[in-house]
Formats: sequence, structure tokens, C-alpha cells
Amino acid sequence: MQKKPDQTVSVNGRAYAWPQAPLVVICCDGSEPAYMEIAARKGLMPNLTKILAEGEYHRGLSAMPSFTNPNNLSIVTGRPPAVHGICGNYLIDPDSGQEVMMNDPKWLRAPTIFAGFQAAGARIAVVTAKDKLRLLLGKGLIFDGSAVCFSSEKADQATPAANGITDVCDLVGMPVPNVYSAELSQFVFAAGVKLLQSFKPDLMYLSTTDYIQHKFAPGSAGANAFYAMMDRYLGELDAAGAIVVIVADHGMKDKHLPDGEPDVVYLQDLLDGIYGAGKTKVILPITDPYVVHHGALGSFATVYTYGPSVQEVMTVIKRQPGIDVVLERTEGCKRFELPEDRMGDIVVVSGGPYATKVIGTSRSKHDLSGLNEPLRSHGGLSEQEIPIIINRKTAGLPAQLRNFDAFAIGCNNIAKAAVAAA
Ligand SMILES: [Zn+2]
Repeated sequence: MQKKPDQTVSVNGRAYAWPQAPLVVICCDGSEPAYMEIAARKGLMPNLTKILAEGEYHRGLSAMPSFTNPNNLSIVTGRPPAVHGICGNYLIDPDSGQEVMMNDPKWLRAPTIFAGFQAAGARIAVVTAKDKLRLLLGKGLIFDGSAVCFSSEKADQATPAANGITDVCDLVGMPVPNVYSAELSQFVFAAGVKLLQSFKPDLMYLSTTDYIQHKFAPGSAGANAFYAMMDRYLGELDAAGAIVVIVADHGMKDKHLPDGEPDVVYLQDLLDGIYGAGKTKVILPITDPYVVHHGALGSFATVYTYGPSVQEVMTVIKRQPGIDVVLERTEGCKRFELPEDRMGDIVVVSGGPYATKVIGTSRSKHDLSGLNEPLRSHGGLSEQEIPIIINRKTAGLPAQLRNFDAFAIGCNNIAKAAVAAA
């Protein structure tokens, strides 16, 4: 596709200029700012250091809740969950009253930037680590040769009809990685480098998994090895002339007590003890079939009440140590830009003075047997801070950056002189 420098594409009320070079947005899952800051300081990310000498480093904020799907969809629609509707992995379906996963694209209410650009003639490449995100990210793409969308997890199952590509493992030169591995993310980066050369996308999105970040704290050997690996691919993407914007979907913090036990308030047990079973329902939007990382424990919950007054239940929850925010639905959705019809009567955010508190439902419902390391997780205000890295100088950036500004930055805020010099 030839460059269309004068064309502007409008998606969800935001205007995107045609990028001045192939635009690669990387969502480094769970990448608390300290991970790259420490790895770079230790000399483990020489390419990032070079990129930063020619580009910019900022800290910005994720959308709330600071979970994976709400933020991936915010990044690719350019708008918060109130607009795109994806407020977690899991919800009570307002139509059926049933608890269901939110992976189905039917839950996505807004078009993606990819669909908008493809309709305007752009070539689009989307690679995600876990397959659960693929259908949401790829909604609206047409696989007519101008788009590819696949996951590392199911790379060997990609077909031209469903993914716009086949023989992905041959292209990447790697076998399908284990779903619980650093290689699942490495495959995403390796595919990005190959696609940039062979497929020549105008817009590319690379979204990793936070398996490593759940296990390893910033500066630890396991984390540093991951970022050293990532750095090699950053160098290749940068050297190929792409505009590269790196963000994260959310940060990641220790969620355990000094003895290593998870710092949990089991909210359903607490409320059942006061009101009896069935009078309230605690929903954890982090609930996920892949629970080895976090045992479905995060710092955000929503509560439905069936009898007890909302104010009364809010008072009970507020009394718990480590609870940061308790708001009724309307106010909570306004503050956190959430869709009101998909949230319960009460919005709860935990953290506490050390950011460690997570929310569970009932103790018996959380299988923590897969947690081999002390719990690290996300979901709260304490995991909203994320890095925003651009390999060019920018112009006209807003003062408060959000991770869902990533595509706008790459399209609209690259200083002209920075592209000419690159
Ligand atoms: Zn994530």
C-alpha cells in the first residue's frame, strides 16, 4: 500500500493521520515501569537505551480496571471501556443474568482502529500471545490479503480464512510455545520482525502475555532475562525504520504479606457471613481460564446486591482494611469510565498502604495450588501507571498520557523533523 500522507482516519470520535512510517504499537503485558527502567539501567537493554536517546520516555495511565482485556481493547479502540464495553474477562450478562466470559467479540461495542484503517486502504498485522484476545482484537478485519491476525498460542492453526495467514511457525522460525512461558511473548516479537519485512503492514499491534511479570519482580533475574530478550527485537523493529510505540496494559505489584501468603479479603465470604448466601454476588472481572498466574485474585471487584441496601453493603466493605475505593455504580462508572450496564451495584478497588490487597470471592473457590511464587497481580489504582516509550521525538502530546493514546501518538504526535532524520 502506498503512503497516503494526507489521509485522516476517524475512529470512535478520534482522528488519526496516516502514519509517516510503518507504525508498530507494542503492548508489553503487565510491564510495570520499573521493569524496563531497571533492566536498562543495568545495561541489559542497549537498544532501548539507543531508542530513548533518539526518542522519548513517559509514564502514563492505564484504563481501569487495570486488567488485560479492558486495556488491550482501550489501546486498539483509542477509548476507555465506557465506549468499547470490555470491562473485564468476566461479567454477569445483563440480558440473561448468567455469569459468562467476555471473550466473545459480541461484547465489543466500538470499532477498532485497525478496522478503520483497513477500510481506508491500510495493511494491518495483529499478533497476540494468548488466543483469548485474538477475536476481540481482530473484530471487523477482513482477511482479503491486507490483514493478518493470529496468536502465538495457536500459531500452528492459523488459516487464510480466519487469520489471513498460514504456516506461521515457518515464517517465525519457532515452534508453538507453551502457554505458560516467556517464549509465548518472544514468539509475538519474532513474528512482528518477520511481518514487518515480509507483510509490510502500515499498522502493527504486538500484544504479549504477563506470565513473567506475574512471577518475577522488576530487577529480578527472571524479569531481566525477559527484557533483554525483548530488547533484541526492539532493536530490529527500530532498525527497520518503523515508528515504535511501547505501552503496557497495566502495571504489576506484589500482592502478598511478608510471609509470602496472598493478602486477600474474601469478600463473598464476608458478605455471606453477614447477609446469608444469595443476598449479594461478588464478581471478579479478572476471572480467567488461565489462572496459574494469579489464582483469579486481583485488586478490583464489582458487587451486586439482592435485598440488602447498596449503602449498607458499601459501609461493610469500606470497613475492610486495604480497600481503597467503594463507589455505587453510577459514580464508579463515571470516575473509572466504565459501562454502567455491565457493572454491579458497587465498584470496589483494593490495594491499601502497600498496594498488596487483592479481592477474592469465597476462599473455597480460588485454586491457589498453581501459585508457586508469592502472588503478584493487578487491577487496582496502584497498577495504573505504565511506561509510554516512542522511538521518535514527539510534538503536541497531551500532559496526561493514557495507554490508549498509543496509536494517536504514533499517527499524530511524531515530530516532522524526527521522521526526516530517521
Ligand atoms: Zn495484562
